[in-house]
Amino acid sequence: MSNCQECDSNRIIAVRGKTTDKFTAETEDNDYEGYVPSDLGIGGGDYIKFSFCADCGQIQGEFPLDETDVELGNDESDDDEDEDNDSDDEDLQSWD
Ligand SMILES: [Zn+2]
Repeated sequence: MSNCQECDSNRIIAVRGKTTDKFTAETEDNDYEGYVPSDLGIGGGDYIKFSFCADCGQIQGEFPLDETDVELGNDESDDDEDEDNDSDDEDLQSWD
């Protein structure tokens, strides 16, 4: 394992946690719940997975991130349980 990208410490701790779809993320404006989004740089899918430095706290990875779906409020959860889509074109009202 390589040293910290920020302070060159060798105290790198790699963590992994299986959350499946119980992962949550909060920002100032948005709440997210679902699988781990891969664009956060802390894992993806079923797992939170990242390494951090025990000296300076830096998460090892490529930062800054592009604006993430969590920040944008995009719900990329894969379970399609909300079927609120109106596919009923029969009820179109005419305003003659
Ligand atoms: Zn460090």
